[in-house]
Order: sequence, then C-alpha cells, then structure tokens
Amino acid sequence: MANQPNHENAEHITSFEQTFSVDKLLDVAIIGAGFSAICLAIQLRKSGINNFAIFEKTDSLGGTWHDNTYPGAACDVPSHLYSYSFEMRHNWSKRFSEQSEILKYLNECATKYLVRRHIFFDTEIIEARFQEDKGVWQIFTSSGKSYCTKILVSGMGQLNIPNTPAIPGLAQFQGKQFHSARWNHEIDLRGKKVAIVGTGASAIQFVPEVAKQAGELTVFQRSANWIVPKPDRVYSAREIWVYENFPLVQKLYRTLIYLQMEISHPLLHQGNRLGKLAEKFARWNIQRQIKDPNVAAKLTPDYPVGCRRILISNDYYPTFNLPHVSLVTDNITRIEADRIITNNGAEYEAEVIIFGTGFKSTEFLTPVEFVGKSAQKLNDYWQTGAEAYLGMTVSEFPNFFMMYGPNTNLGHNSIIFMFECQVRYIVQAVEKLINEKLTSIEVRQEVMDNYNHNIQRDLTETVWAADCHSWYKNDSGKITNNWPHTTIDYWLKTRQPNWTEFILQSASTKQETVGSAPIREAS
Ligand code: NAP
Repeated sequence: MANQPNHENAEHITSFEQTFSVDKLLDVAIIGAGFSAICLAIQLRKSGINNFAIFEKTDSLGGTWHDNTYPGAACDVPSHLYSYSFEMRHNWSKRFSEQSEILKYLNECATKYLVRRHIFFDTEIIEARFQEDKGVWQIFTSSGKSYCTKILVSGMGQLNIPNTPAIPGLAQFQGKQFHSARWNHEIDLRGKKVAIVGTGASAIQFVPEVAKQAGELTVFQRSANWIVPKPDRVYSAREIWVYENFPLVQKLYRTLIYLQMEISHPLLHQGNRLGKLAEKFARWNIQRQIKDPNVAAKLTPDYPVGCRRILISNDYYPTFNLPHVSLVTDNITRIEADRIITNNGAEYEAEVIIFGTGFKSTEFLTPVEFVGKSAQKLNDYWQTGAEAYLGMTVSEFPNFFMMYGPNTNLGHNSIIFMFECQVRYIVQAVEKLINEKLTSIEVRQEVMDNYNHNIQRDLTETVWAADCHSWYKNDSGKITNNWPHTTIDYWLKTRQPNWTEFILQSASTKQETVGSAPIREAS
C-alpha cells in the first residue's frame, strides 16, 4: 500500500485501505490528484461508483496548484469561473485568486465529497499495460507494486514536467538554482544578485515579487509576450454577502464571466479585427508603463497577439523602471561558477538563478509508459505529436481516457469548463462498461484520424499557427495542445458519447460493433 500520506483526514484513507485489497480489480484508476482528477472522483461517487483509486506521486493533492508555490502565483481566470460549477464559492477574496486560496478550495472540495479516502499519496505510477485477454489495465508503481483496473484515466495534465534548459556550464554554477514550479522557499533572496531566465506566464507573476527582495535582478528574456492590464480587485464584504445569500446572483455573475470570455474567441482567428485592436491596446500598455524607450522596444513582441497566451499583469512592466532591475535579451550561451554569459560576451554575476522556463508541454504523458494493444507504446504511437479523439481517448488503447489531453487547452476561457465536459463523458463510458459488462471500449481508428485531420485543418486558421514558437506546438510545429473552437462546441461534442464511434467488446461476444461508424466533422 502507499506510504502514510501527509495530510488531514487520514482516517478516511485508513478506512479505504482496510477495505482495499491489492488483488481487487478497480473499476477506475486515476493518475494524478489535480483539478481534473478531483472533479472526476466527485462525479464517480455521485454516480454511485466507489470502487476507484487515485494515484498521486506527491504527498498532497492539487496538481499544478500544489507544485507552483512561487511568490505571486495566481490564476489568470477569475475564480468565480475557475472553480467547479457544482461547487461555487461565495467568498473568493479577490477576482483572480492566489495559489493558496485555490489550493484550499480544492482541498475543501476533496474533503466535502469524501474523495481523500480514494487517494494513494506518495505513489508514482511509472508504467501501465493493457491486458488484451482480460480487458484490464495493469499499472505499476515506482516502488514495485501493481494494481489492476478496468478503466484507466490520466489526470496528469499538460504542465507537470518542469523544463530546465540544458545550458552549458549549468552544473558548474556555484550559487543556488531552482525552477519556478519547484520554488525553494529556504533561499533568502534579500539583497542577492538574482537572475531569472524566462519571461512567460509564471515569470511575469514572480518577477515583481523577486524584485522587491533582490539587491540586483537581471531578467533574461528570449522573446517578449503580449501583456495587458489585469482587471483584478478585492471583493467587498457586501458583495460576498450577496453571493452567499442570493446564489442565483452568483450564478449569473459566473455566467457573465464565462460569456465575456467565450465571446473573445474570434480574437484567436488569424487576421481578426479584434486581434488588431487588442494589439494596439497592448502596445499602448507598454508605452504608458515603461519609461525607457529601449526597454519598451525590447518588451514588444514581434508576432500577433494571441499566438501565445495573452498575459495579464499590472506590476510586471513597472518592475523594469526600477534602478536595480535590468532586462537582457541577448541569448545565454553558458553559465560559469558565479555568472551568466551571453552571445555578445557580456557577463552577468548571479548568486541565485531562477528558471521560469515553463514545462515539457508537448510530451504529455511521457513520465508514464503506456502500453496498449499489441504491445504498442503510446510514445511511439505519438512520435509525430500527441493526438486523441476529443482529447480523451486513443485508438489501440482501449479503456483508457485522458483529461486535459491533446488539443484541449484553451486560449480564451476556463479550463475547468473543459474538465467538466471530459468528466461527464468519461463517467458515461465507465457506466457503459460496468452496466453492460463490457470488457473494452475503444475508439475506432478512422473516427480518431478523421477527427484529428479536421482539428489540424481548423488550427491552421488560428493565431497559434502564426509565426511564433510556443508551448502549444511540438518541435515540428504541429499544434498538439490547443482546442481551436469555442468551449460551447466542445460541450456539444462531448455531452454524450456516440457509441457507434467505438468498438465495444464483451466477454460473451468476442466483438460487438454497434452500427456503422459515422465520421463526424470536427467543426
Ligand atoms: P511559458 O509561458 O512557456 O514560459 C517559459 C519562458 O521560458 C518563456 O519566456 C520562454 O522563452 C523561456 N524559455 C524556455 N526555454 C528557454 C531557454 N532554453 N532559454 C531561454 N529562455 C527559455 O511557461 P510558464 O511561464 O511556466 O507558463 C506555462 C503555462 O502555465 C502558461 O501558458 C499557462 O497556461 C500556465 N500558467 C497559468 C497561470 C495562470 O495564471 N493560470 C500562471 C502561470 C502559468 P520563449 O518565450 O522564447 O519560448
């Protein structure tokens, strides 16, 4: 069994452990205990499916909100929308909540819906193999244990493997260094010479906070991002009272935020007038906040707005007006014991290097080896880039589903909406498999191929396809991460599985096919 987890509610886990036997076949195994996994667990319980377990490699739940504790960490989607539709909070302290408040919310949800008892903490899954003869997945932990499950679900997300660039000489650096997703809170930055590498969504949040402490701060930018003002504010006691006592008002508020974000979708189409307006606005934002025109020029991107995630901040740009903060745009060529060297030979002393260099986003489920039918490995299958049907399921890998899988990331709305769509779909598949005593559910190859052909076609019309690199694309330029349409489109496609798109197999009938497979358009 898993090590004793380090968190509250241990008695729940004990009770689950007491009833759980390693030999028992699980109905569902979920890898990872982040936002999507907790959502699935809650809905499985609501559907009366309790024979499931969540395997979490750390000692706490929360996924990205557990990992990213850097100063200034906050969500760039308003909390009234970045929360489950079935578990709204009336008392969010501000419009864009900070990491600790989001993590607290998630913990409270897990406790309220009795999800903790299903979580095996400190249990890292390293391999999963589909046993064709039995129609079950066997999963293996790093400590040598194995479990069997009818359905396997990945809740590992797209942003869980930190990317630290292999800069020559990094190993020789004598100071302290860490990645923003593994923030070292033991290191006192006060008065130090700090270097930050990377200027993405995470860095723009912690650069202003580090600048408050560091004696000297050098920010190394490889390319600039479009940043617009953050419409943040603290909620008044009166507003919170209204949301508490009139939940309908809160629902309306949530819906308004959702619609406001949803109608910004056209901005993600190449050549859209909205995009041009947004660019003007973003340029004005730079001009009004940066005093030095040379620095302003360096902070201005050379690609269309939206090609990468549009970032929001009120304090990032003003940080570069501070006398002890400098921006370097020359490429880093090597690192020595106490300094960083750039391609023009300039040297920058550093006592601490912080990497805000993002995640290995296009590698998807890489840390775990998934082996499907005919010993097919998912990594080999995805050699040219990850793809799935509706971002959830892959031909040749029956009874396997993903949340936040390929082409389900958004550029304009809350990812929690997508999680809820995926959870609704997956729970229906679990119910189908259990109720109809099926041994396997597998999406038809032609359905998946046609779907991905259409997704890639539609992505060519989006700003992400413009000439910029981003974590949405793999090395060959294929956009593997983003959903090109509206969230309403995704909701319509995932409301109910169309079982004719699947090969359904039961023990009695070697292979049962339901109707012929219609090919659905992706848009
Ligand atoms: P990111 O946006 O991908 O930024 C990574 C940064 O590191 C970029 O500036 C990148 O430069 C730079 N970089 C990468 N490799 C480098 C190298 N070898 N040398 C120099 N610079 C390098 O990563 P992130 O900031 O961690 O954010 C990732 C995603 O996490 C976001 O887009 C967002 O979806 C999510 N996130 C969300 C929130 C939120 O509020 N909800 C907050 C933080 C993060 P280039 O730009 O040139 O590639």
